[in-house]
Amino acid sequence: MALSRRTLILGGAAAGAATAATVRPRAAIAAPYRGPLRSDPFTLGVASGDPEPDGFVIWTRLAVDPLAEDGLGGLGTGRHDVEWELATDERFARVEQRGVVSTGPEVGHSVHVELGGLRPGHEYHYRFRALGELSPAGRTRTAPAPDASAPLTMCFASCAQYEHGYFTAYTRIAEEEPDLVLHLGDYLYEEDPGAYRLPGGSVRQHIGRETVTLADYRRRHAQYRSDTDLQAAHAVAPWVVVWDDHEVEDDWAGFTRDVPEYPPGPFPPRRAAAFQAYWENMPLRSAQRPNGQNLQLYRRIGWGATATFHMLDTRQYRDDQACGEQLDCAARADPGRTLPGSAQERWLAEGLRSSRTRWDVLGQQVFFAQLDLVPGAGRGFNNDVWDGYPASRDRVVDSWVAAGIRNPVVLTGDIHSHWAADIRRRWDDPEAPTVGTELVTSSISAGGDGSETTDTSPGLLAENPHIRFFNNRRGYVRTRFTDTELTADFRVLPHVQRPGAPAETRATFVIEDRRPGLQSA
Ligand code: FE
Ligand code: CA
Repeated sequence: MALSRRTLILGGAAAGAATAATVRPRAAIAAPYRGPLRSDPFTLGVASGDPEPDGFVIWTRLAVDPLAEDGLGGLGTGRHDVEWELATDERFARVEQRGVVSTGPEVGHSVHVELGGLRPGHEYHYRFRALGELSPAGRTRTAPAPDASAPLTMCFASCAQYEHGYFTAYTRIAEEEPDLVLHLGDYLYEEDPGAYRLPGGSVRQHIGRETVTLADYRRRHAQYRSDTDLQAAHAVAPWVVVWDDHEVEDDWAGFTRDVPEYPPGPFPPRRAAAFQAYWENMPLRSAQRPNGQNLQLYRRIGWGATATFHMLDTRQYRDDQACGEQLDCAARADPGRTLPGSAQERWLAEGLRSSRTRWDVLGQQVFFAQLDLVPGAGRGFNNDVWDGYPASRDRVVDSWVAAGIRNPVVLTGDIHSHWAADIRRRWDDPEAPTVGTELVTSSISAGGDGSETTDTSPGLLAENPHIRFFNNRRGYVRTRFTDTELTADFRVLPHVQRPGAPAETRATFVIEDRRPGLQSA
């Protein structure tokens, strides 16, 4: 999201950052790169993702020199065989499957192995071997069988800005040992070193320049993946990922750029490079491999009879943001405008209609509930989020109301603070029924330490009574799904600009079966 818009929401605390960050940098100043420290090809860790009842993807990417300027991790154009091994125990005494795959420069030396034939609802352990070295082991699990009632512990996260803070929150997620991790976007940030500046300065620095080419994106992903906190969270559980804007460029919309003049050059090839690097670096299936200009990111992940995760892509097919830098305009409400795109809207409606699970979860990026930014009679909105596409939002809510969805829940990232909201049938009518619930996770690090602020701009929560919770620390949300309730713990870290913070629960809400909206725990 554009910082100018975020400033309105976060008020004074973020104003300094926003002012500095809207000035595009003149030159990237980076510490000189000194080359590889070791010859281990598993410097980027391991990961797994997109679980099904009979399998999942296991992932690694070979790099002996992760930050090599050509983006190829010090392996150039060579090809390498990678052995993989899957066991039911963490000592690999009971290996169930093994195999060998070949990888090379066309996929950035990444490895995506889609496994099948496994038992539903089971924990597995995996590892790789290449260039005479053994990788760290990862833990993962299959989804439960479709008819199985299976409690689920899931953590969701968003917005890890490498320069703003340490990724301690990822290690705290790993320590939770969840069954599943959802990442809702801004997995990395594309900007020039120091471009998105905190008032107190950066704690570390992006490599290279603002990402434009495939080599740039591969290298930036490698820098992030070298972070051991991030590696710990990937190694603990399968992830299900969707992007927001910074995996490509701030506030992109379809084929439209937010800042056309910087960096110079056409957007479609840049977008394609970002998509390719994203696929290479995520534990995604071959169905998500870029196809021409597109990457099919929206998809469904089932978790037994307990939950269906409808993972949305709210960037690739959206209409351009309305109203320019104004907070409201007539075009905003144009019923022809769409955030997910009409095909994805239909796909979501059909998926909701056919869902039989206890919980239906929309895993997506941008704020869903209406958030009027102007106290009193006037109205104003952040037009990068669903508020910029209200007709599209109404169609989504209509589709779950029409389908009689038992428990609709929207999960959100992007905004760098924790929020929780009741989703109302009509936003401006206090008598309108609550028809769903939104849980918004803060950032892993974007925005730095934050504060214990419990309102945002003064009076904003009073202006929007369906919004029930706000906190301006960094962290993640831990959820527990059962047949009778969903419990959400808003986990916060007292600091991220120094390493080592503990995670604390700042608020807990319960959503009861067949009772949309937040209950205080
Ligand atoms: Fe972000
Ligand atoms: Ca108002």
